Amino acid sequence: LYCADTIVAPATPPGRGAVAIVRLSGPEAAAIARQLFQATSGPALRSRRLVHGRLVDDGRPIDEALCAFMPGPNSYTGEDTVEFQCHGSPLVVEQVVAAAMARGARAAGPGEFTRRAVLNGRMDLVQAEAVADLISATVAGGARQAWEQLQGALSGRLAELRSVIVEVLAEVEANVDFSDEELPEERLELRADRLAAVDAGLSALLEGFAVARRQREGHRVVFCGRPNVGKSSLVNALLGHGRMIVTAEAGTTRDSVEEAVDLGGMAIVLVDTAGLRAVTGEAETEAVERARRLAEDADIRVLVIDRSVPLEDEDRETAGLCAAGPSLLVVNKCDLPATLTDDQTAALAGPCQVMMTSAIDGRGTDELAAALVGLAGQASEQDTVVVSRARHRSAIERARLCLGQAFDLASGPAAHELVALELREAAHELSGITEVLDNEEVLDRIFSEFCIGK
Ligand code: GDP
Repeated sequence: LYCADTIVAPATPPGRGAVAIVRLSGPEAAAIARQLFQATSGPALRSRRLVHGRLVDDGRPIDEALCAFMPGPNSYTGEDTVEFQCHGSPLVVEQVVAAAMARGARAAGPGEFTRRAVLNGRMDLVQAEAVADLISATVAGGARQAWEQLQGALSGRLAELRSVIVEVLAEVEANVDFSDEELPEERLELRADRLAAVDAGLSALLEGFAVARRQREGHRVVFCGRPNVGKSSLVNALLGHGRMIVTAEAGTTRDSVEEAVDLGGMAIVLVDTAGLRAVTGEAETEAVERARRLAEDADIRVLVIDRSVPLEDEDRETAGLCAAGPSLLVVNKCDLPATLTDDQTAALAGPCQVMMTSAIDGRGTDELAAALVGLAGQASEQDTVVVSRARHRSAIERARLCLGQAFDLASGPAAHELVALELREAAHELSGITEVLDNEEVLDRIFSEFCIGK
């Protein structure tokens, strides 16, 4: 067991509420808890039972509370853990924490309970990251993805792929004293096939990275079109169709306005490029360039045109952006007399779906919301194991480079030792995703994102 001091922290968010939880973990957790808690009857600490009583500090009552004792090693942290459920008063919480600290506990840092869980082998790094992702998830899709990762979906897949590399490595090492010419042809082919399968598996995980990001952070829907066609009005109408997602980082940049909304359980980030054209001269070309880049990088593009006025070159130019991927053409201001004909809009739309809307009377906006959810749904359909973090992605990329090297070396006259070296490195990179190797820095970075008390 990872040996450490005893830590204490509120496990519930700061502020007032019905109940607050103060959590203790470490070798002294039980001893400290016995000093702080008087059961109404019987012993204060009963394994995996909720005991009623009161919290006291030197005989002075603090609050009525429930006490739960989870002895190690089968607790969240792997250590003895005690949780007090008291009234949700910041003052009570502060006094309980202070009383525990006066008896030798130390205030826990962010994520320190989970960090101990990792160090004690209760979960791997990928699962610890999933805990943070689950807590910070803003939409159902992101929460589900974190849950799957917490259950070990990604860890299991990585372990499978790694074990194939290790098998091949063992075989290569066993043959270090021979040259490849002495090995039967089919054995060499088999080896290459297995490594190719691992590489394909890794590459599939990498492809899932974008899917994972969309599930978590939202599908980026960029609205483009000339000024005054009604982009901002449509964005506002759509916001009314869903539940606003309040994220810690405000999505507003200088270039565009971003709003995250939950449409049918799908995170959608509506990006309004309005205002990008409202500049003149040199700045304008730059702004146009930025709008173009936003549209290209989007997951879904919505080109908006105004049906009550004639088309302009700019509309056709913007329509060209739709070639970059899934797109919709929205013909807005359908409440006004039409100037554009259906043929004109159809010609402009090409293969992309046309929606008729009015941001003023609301017609077509339900359909627009549904179409966006549909497109977003197609993009996140693959319910496979995904890689959720840049940390995983770069380790997998490094592992693939090593595999590639091993491949090249194996097909040349190189010695087995060099092939083995690359394979070992590839396996090591994959281990580093789930396991704590020799790197405290990685741990610090992962747990710095956590909240206190988790
Ligand atoms: P943006 O520059 O493309 O973002 O356009 P805005 O959303 O700011 O809208 C420009 C003007 O058109 C505003 O006065 C809106 O009230 C108006 N507008 C937007 N959508 C419609 C619509 O569907 N019908 C009508 N009649 N006016 C609209």
